Amino acid sequence: MTVTHDPIPRRPRWRNLALLALLLAPLLWPVQRLAERYYVNELTEQNRQTLDLYVANLLGTLRRYEVMPGILGELPVVRNALYQADDPDALDQANRRLNELRRETGADVIYLMDIEGNALASSNWAEHDSFVGRNFSFRPYFIEAMEGKLGRFFGLGNTSGKRGYYFGSAVRDGERNLGVLVVKVDLDHTERLWGNTPEQLLVTDNFGVVILTSQAEWRFRASRALDFDEREQIAFNRPYPTLEPRDLTLDINRWLIQSHELREIDWTVRILAPLAMVERPVRTAVAIGGATLLALLLWLGLLMQRRRHFIERLNLDAQARQQLEQRVQERTRDLESLNSRLKKEVLEREHTQQELVRAQDELLQTGKLSALGTMSASISHELNQPLAAIRSYADNAGVLLDHQRNDEARDNLQRISELTARMASIIAHLRAFARRDRYAPERVALQPALDDALALLAKRRQSMGVELIRDLPEATLWVQAGETRLRQILANLLANALDALGERPLPRRIWLSAERLENGVRLILRDNGPGFSAEALARAREPFFTTKTSAQGLGLGLAICDTLVRALDGELNIDNHAEGGALLTLFLRSAEPATAFPTEDYLQ
Ligand code: ADP
Repeated sequence: MTVTHDPIPRRPRWRNLALLALLLAPLLWPVQRLAERYYVNELTEQNRQTLDLYVANLLGTLRRYEVMPGILGELPVVRNALYQADDPDALDQANRRLNELRRETGADVIYLMDIEGNALASSNWAEHDSFVGRNFSFRPYFIEAMEGKLGRFFGLGNTSGKRGYYFGSAVRDGERNLGVLVVKVDLDHTERLWGNTPEQLLVTDNFGVVILTSQAEWRFRASRALDFDEREQIAFNRPYPTLEPRDLTLDINRWLIQSHELREIDWTVRILAPLAMVERPVRTAVAIGGATLLALLLWLGLLMQRRRHFIERLNLDAQARQQLEQRVQERTRDLESLNSRLKKEVLEREHTQQELVRAQDELLQTGKLSALGTMSASISHELNQPLAAIRSYADNAGVLLDHQRNDEARDNLQRISELTARMASIIAHLRAFARRDRYAPERVALQPALDDALALLAKRRQSMGVELIRDLPEATLWVQAGETRLRQILANLLANALDALGERPLPRRIWLSAERLENGVRLILRDNGPGFSAEALARAREPFFTTKTSAQGLGLGLAICDTLVRALDGELNIDNHAEGGALLTLFLRSAEPATAFPTEDYLQ
């Protein structure tokens, strides 16, 4: 048997997943945007704090020093130096005092100028780059201080080259300017405070020029274009090492910039954080998002695969069921055809059997006819015995009548009448034997039938001096037979025994015994004659087999007996006794009065 499977459509699952991944990939963009916004905010907030801290520090530094010139200008030693500018002692005292003050306040340089701008005393009087004797009248802080204002100025130290913030204040005597006291603050260190961080510092002054920065290459670059006036001022004040500051070029896209304006000094402080700082965590977030998406897809793929396997298994189960059903159907069809074939065969057998039975019947009929043909020749043989008895009774009757013994003569005549009736019955029986119809078996008592048969042969037996040994039960043994047929069978068997005993000297004996069996009755007839010869044992049932002279026997006795017995569903066994003599066993079916009579078994 071959079963064709529907091929399960193989969908390209991983292509579908890849397509899904492509569709879901744009989801990563908002993830990136969100992460960017988050980290930028974070960085902004962090830098805002750093910036505020730095600005506070810077302003703190500047404010601490901006009041100093005014206060220091009131010191007697300072004023003395101005009053007695020619007195080396007064100047020396001023120098020393200013140096002490510098040390105490942490200022870079403190120096004192006369109204011409000449430095009279200075904290660095003893050093090689001493300001003493130099003129700073061109410096803006000097000019502003002389105008009565607080002078402010950013610039490089003329000799030191260090960046500093200068506060200048006039020393006055009433309305009169005596001189100007200047405190210079070192700003280099505020730059160094910044340290080595990825975030960069950028402080621009009022010209937009970078004065403080954590990136050395940005220093003194112009963050915006300078106009003519501004260039003039720069040329005049020279706050930077160069008169033409180069442009600061910054890639705006690379930096996150926050600024704080210091309005009082017109400076701007900026903190620049490289956006690369944000890129890495954003990349990580996107990678995590991507990995999650991938895991989701894999999980989805796995689910799809499991679902697919499940469907495949269901299909396989369905196919197996279908195959099984098909096989069952095929087997059922096979069985049905086998069944019908068997039915046909049974019918044929029945038909054949009927044919056989008919053929057997016909054969039987033919056999009977031929047997009848041969038996007709021996009717005389069958009738000889009653005829001999009739003759004997008739002779006796004549003699008895002669002697006026009428009653006995009547009795003999009665016997003759009975014998003729029996002869008629024998003839009828022989005719029935040749015809198809059969007599239904009757219930016949065995002992009386045996007595009748013995009576038929009584005279002859007695004349031969044959001793009869009976071993029959008292109770009547009922057998299935026909009364005439049974008597005929028994008479035949007894006559044969007498024939055989005729060849023997005395003592001559006949044993008769019977017993009830489970389903029948067994009658045993034994004589002490010569017994059956070997040939007779084999052929005794054959019609016309005889060892006797033609006058004595026709060889039909046992043939008829056997046929009759078999017709009664009985059995006749022919054998010799171990002690010599014939042993005939007749088995007949029992017909007990109580048992129902199964007539249909015998009627056709
Ligand atoms: P018939 O008596 O006319 O010969 P049967 O058919 O009665 O025919 O007997 C056939 C033969 O069987 C007899 O010829 C005889 O040889 C043998 N036979 C029959 N009965 C006896 C017996 N009781 N003892 C010995 N031989 C027997």
